[in-house]
Amino acid sequence: MRLILLGPPGAGKGTQAQRLVAKHGIVQLSTGDMLRAAVKAETQTGLEAKEVMDRGDLVPDATVVKIVADRIDEPDCANGFILDGFPRTTAQADALGQMLSDKHLALDAVLQFTVDETVLVKRVVNRARETVAAGGTPRADDTAEAMTKRLQVYRDQTEPLIAYYADKSLLRVIDGMGPIDVVAEKIDEILGATVAA
Ligand code: AMP
Repeated sequence: MRLILLGPPGAGKGTQAQRLVAKHGIVQLSTGDMLRAAVKAETQTGLEAKEVMDRGDLVPDATVVKIVADRIDEPDCANGFILDGFPRTTAQADALGQMLSDKHLALDAVLQFTVDETVLVKRVVNRARETVAAGGTPRADDTAEAMTKRLQVYRDQTEPLIAYYADKSLLRVIDGMGPIDVVAEKIDEILGATVAA
């Protein structure tokens, strides 16, 4: 199974991706997680991406496309994967389409999470607070300021992907506002109806 999770920051994509990983034995490819790991490890990519990420902008398409292309060649992706936070621009979506067709692979579905944007800022600020309460270090971009920017970037650069994948008849819309279990159930229903196995 090969899926894309599409939706604004804070929509619950990561949470649902982790559940799908456990349920279907496929891997979660989160470009945000991979970039944060690169920042932490102070690799060349990480050093270049840090400032851009902290202010809530997108890192260059070429950087992200390379990361994903390398990752989906790993053996653990053979059984399928969930792309979480990628693609985020039509250029990335085109690059992904090319990558998959070169490997004779196809996407099964693009799950679009719809959410009330007014709650998103609260959600990510809470996520940062909970991380601190648990003794961790919150993400530098889980602040109200960076979140406002991230939402603007989502609207400008990522929302066009809704029409892009609707045109390919891959788009499935999920109401992402409910409790985690309810959203999970809806996803299972949709996947049951659209994905063979
Ligand atoms: P996320 O964890 O998906 O919210 O991503 C956190 C940050 O990483 C984003 O605000 C971007 O700066 C960067 N990032 C993650 N995925 C991408 C992508 N596909 N294209 C460009 N930048 C990305």
